[in-house]
Amino acid sequence: MLTNYNLACAVNHHAMANPDAPAVVCQARSLTYAELAERAARLAACLTHRPDWQRHDGQALRVGILASRGVDACVAVLGACWAGATYVPISLKQPEERVLTLLAQCGLSAIIADDEGAKLLSERLLTAGPRLVIHAGQSLLAPRAGAVEMVDMATLPPVTPEEPAPMAASDTAYIIFTSGTTGVPKGVMISAGSARHYLTTISEWLDLRASDRALETCELSFDFSVHNMFSTWEVGAALHILPATTVMNAVKFVRSSGLTVWNSVPALAGMLRQIKALAPESLASLRVTVFGGEQLPASTVTAWQSAAPNSVIVNLYGPTEATVFCLAQRVGKPLPLTPGRNVMAIGTPLPGNEARVVDAHGQPVADGTAGELVIAGDQVADGYLGADELTASRFPTLDGKRWYRTGDLAQRDATGCFHCLGRIDNQVKVLGHRVELEEIDAHLRIVSGADVVGSIAWPQANGMASGIVSFVGASTIDADSVIDELKNRLPPYMLPRRVIALERMPLNSSGKVDRRELHQLLDKEAG
Ligand code: AMP
Repeated sequence: MLTNYNLACAVNHHAMANPDAPAVVCQARSLTYAELAERAARLAACLTHRPDWQRHDGQALRVGILASRGVDACVAVLGACWAGATYVPISLKQPEERVLTLLAQCGLSAIIADDEGAKLLSERLLTAGPRLVIHAGQSLLAPRAGAVEMVDMATLPPVTPEEPAPMAASDTAYIIFTSGTTGVPKGVMISAGSARHYLTTISEWLDLRASDRALETCELSFDFSVHNMFSTWEVGAALHILPATTVMNAVKFVRSSGLTVWNSVPALAGMLRQIKALAPESLASLRVTVFGGEQLPASTVTAWQSAAPNSVIVNLYGPTEATVFCLAQRVGKPLPLTPGRNVMAIGTPLPGNEARVVDAHGQPVADGTAGELVIAGDQVADGYLGADELTASRFPTLDGKRWYRTGDLAQRDATGCFHCLGRIDNQVKVLGHRVELEEIDAHLRIVSGADVVGSIAWPQANGMASGIVSFVGASTIDADSVIDELKNRLPPYMLPRRVIALERMPLNSSGKVDRRELHQLLDKEAG
């Protein structure tokens, strides 16, 4: 029976059993398990040895991680875990206003920042944030910026590593913020028990091994990174981080590092295919390919099967609210296609998860009938931080069980396999990022002064969107200045590339902006 659910336990275990094995590699930097554990424990000691490091109301303390993917980000996440804290990734790609909203929501006890992250810590953020900032690399800030103590990670004294702090299954392991319809991002709280359940399940299901070299392509603020980091460390394998600046050279990266496990959203594979980087057998070293986070098109799979002939391909499905991935489909030949669409089925629930398709009243529908996909089981989130009403509506209790309503339109076929048919609401994926169109609209209304606005994900190719176009109900608009102002409020992937004024906004029968008609307008314009 597991007694300590701390996510750092696996790293601690491998550091003792196999200290010299590589744990993380990024460009010229790499750390063995022993080095990674020592650095994380050192960071943890800096947090836990402070007099104010005490749980309030039994809750784990929260530590923000302001870092882009890299060795320092891994040390920061593990250090926070080691200290028994809930880690909260803060994306570097969001404007200051959005970070301020996040800080106001979470009550952080400390921030750990990498070099790039530390540069973003403006006067305003420091005033609104916690009183302790631990940073890597050179900080432009004085050791004490106002009331905030700045600690350079490089100056932390060596420690005799202590075990990772005890964490119960019910403690919150991490909080990941996703786009929210009201204009305010929602913090999804995942317990240590759910995270541990996912990691043991998926590493067994994928048959991950200590000899593996696995790819990291995600930022910490996307929960796919939880899979990438912790499923790799679960088995004592090595995580190879692909820097954001070299994603288009991913094939070369796999070959030169002899990677065996690929992890990414399908969009990355789609882009590699587009630039003709997926030559036959160009990814021969891969034995496992994990695609997840958005629909997986048949065209991507076919190209991948020829580029990576020795690899099993899996399509993993899941919302952040059900701990990374909860349904899985192995992709063989013939392709497990969703009828009428050129995308892969999402398969069946992973062990410990339950999936159902329900009608508007939460009643199960017959196989072959479309409805909303709901998920129950060991991986369902505790809810949204500080949003009890939203939590109650998205996590209803049906038949005595707590479910998460995914908002995905789905159907189950006669074999028990699930198919994702799209969204019930206006959530979209833009280049792998989850976006609620209403969040863009909320900010657009403020900066444009127009009441009636509507954004759509456009253009779309192979069922994937690569950008946003917004419309405002007005006779004219200074699009450039609206976009400029939105830059202060939204991360780059949510920024409309165009803002178009429409004197008469198309409305549907319920009087809402008709996004379908807006799509048609742009399709027509594009010819
Ligand atoms: P996120 O919380 O960012 O992981 O986004 C979750 C949403 O992404 C789901 O509710 C689906 O709409 C979509 N999604 C995730 N994985 C898949 C998949 N394998 N196939 C189709 N859609 C997916």
